[in-house]
Amino acid sequence: MTPNRRTLLHAGVSVTATLASASLAGQSGARDPRPPKLLLADDAESCAAAAQDFGHIIQRPPRAVCKPSSSAEIADILRWAREQGLKVAARGQGHATYGRAMAGDGIVMDLSALTVIHRIEPDRVVVDAGAIWHALLEATLAKGLAPPVLTNYLGLSVGGTLAVGGIGGSSSRHGLQTDQVLELDIVTGEGVELTCSRSAHAELFDAVRAGLAQCAIITRATLRLMRAPERVRRYLLSYPDLASLTADQRRALDEARFDQLQGAVVPDGAGGWRYQLEAGVFYDSSSAPDDKTLLAGLADKHETVSDLAFGDDANAFAKLEKLLRSNGQWFNPHPWLLSYLRGSNALEIASEVIAGLNSDDLGPFGRITYYPMFTDSCRTPLLRLPDERIVFPFNLIRIPSSADKENADRQVARNRCVYDHIRSAGGMLYPVSALGMSSQDWADHFGPRWPLLREARRRHDPAGILTPGYDLF
Ligand SMILES: Cc1cc2nc3c(=O)[nH]c(=O)nc-3n(C[C@H](O)[C@H](O)[C@H](O)COP(=O)(O)OP(=O)(O)OC[C@H]3O[C@@H](n4cnc5c(N)ncnc54)[C@H](O)[C@@H]3O)c2cc1C
Repeated sequence: MTPNRRTLLHAGVSVTATLASASLAGQSGARDPRPPKLLLADDAESCAAAAQDFGHIIQRPPRAVCKPSSSAEIADILRWAREQGLKVAARGQGHATYGRAMAGDGIVMDLSALTVIHRIEPDRVVVDAGAIWHALLEATLAKGLAPPVLTNYLGLSVGGTLAVGGIGGSSSRHGLQTDQVLELDIVTGEGVELTCSRSAHAELFDAVRAGLAQCAIITRATLRLMRAPERVRRYLLSYPDLASLTADQRRALDEARFDQLQGAVVPDGAGGWRYQLEAGVFYDSSSAPDDKTLLAGLADKHETVSDLAFGDDANAFAKLEKLLRSNGQWFNPHPWLLSYLRGSNALEIASEVIAGLNSDDLGPFGRITYYPMFTDSCRTPLLRLPDERIVFPFNLIRIPSSADKENADRQVARNRCVYDHIRSAGGMLYPVSALGMSSQDWADHFGPRWPLLREARRRHDPAGILTPGYDLF
């Protein structure tokens, strides 16, 4: 959005005359005579960019895009949009896969100008919601600290992952990124600026974390930090089938052998699959891990794939990103399906789903993420997981080698069938998936937590302007 393209939209989206600003801090109803400092772009280039996401499946051009630089501007925009009857979606890095950060004929609020890291203390960091995890990690590592849970890819925004959950290799120990939040600054759908935490506006705190941006936009987060390990050694263990992979994964989990335990089923390049356990051990240079003890009794076929400084290890996905950008596959459709299986039937359900797939369904760089994790530390109320101590993230990470739209539509339709199967077996959706969900589907998904979200929406976004891309209400 270049300055000469920025326009105050007096026509069509008339701004200045019609703003009814509820005053801040909840005194709704009071009028603020100030004209809003709203810089909206309605040029074709800005709108086309906001009509796309990483999924490249849904296109919904907004009427305009804005790029607020403060919480107060976000509040102004929301109050004004509400008056105009316009929907609003926050956009972090646009890595959603199914239009969840879009607002067809509404306003997309690009948060990429809100990136300040305000304060780093030994146990916490205060950061703007538009900041990218990579930048946050770099800043905390300079002080020997790190967020306890990092996603596998660090090019995501803080607000974008807190809106959905944020799972990573350490989630078995620490829960999700939403479990690391101490405090949030937010602006509700009514344009009210608030700070919420476990002890202040607790119901909003619970409705916003993993709440799919239905009640408020996050502007700033206070997140837990821990001492960063110096290095990470990574192992790859290979198996002939899913059953033997699952058995070793469960054993490694039970015995807490590794600091990070993940795994995947990946195309072997000849029409079949490779089954692999992926594990990482944190260490300081004074005490290198003992490979023999760590791997004793697990698969014969194993290798050490990397031994890197903690920051380099956390950023390892950047290599694949570079490759996919250079071969064009980063820009192809990504009909991903992300879910959690119950530990008690994960092997059975995953086997059934995988039997119905072929490697072309995933693409040469695609994979099926599959590994067990403990749920003890997962406490975010709206993050839905099967009700068992061990669950298996089970993700169809489809990276097609072509941009074929019909293929993408077919995969989205398959996602629906796979999801129905998983759901009927007690599994849960991770809502960053590419598939259509009705309001009833969402009510079923949130189950006993649905009233929490519905009530928060009713109270804090009564006009229902926020984040239409999920079709929740
Ligand atoms: C390559 C890749 C790897 C990934 N790896 C992981 C992983 O390891 N673990 C994991 O959990 N997820 C992973 N994801 C999924 C990712 O966490 C979500 O798609 C996330 O929402 C994207 O963040 P974003 O900044 O791009 O958000 P966007 O796509 O811009 O937005 C996503 C949703 O969040 C909302 N939102 C954005 N900012 C805010 C805000 N400040 N306040 C309120 N709502 C907001 C948007 O309105 C939208 O509904 C991955 C995605 C990709 C593409």
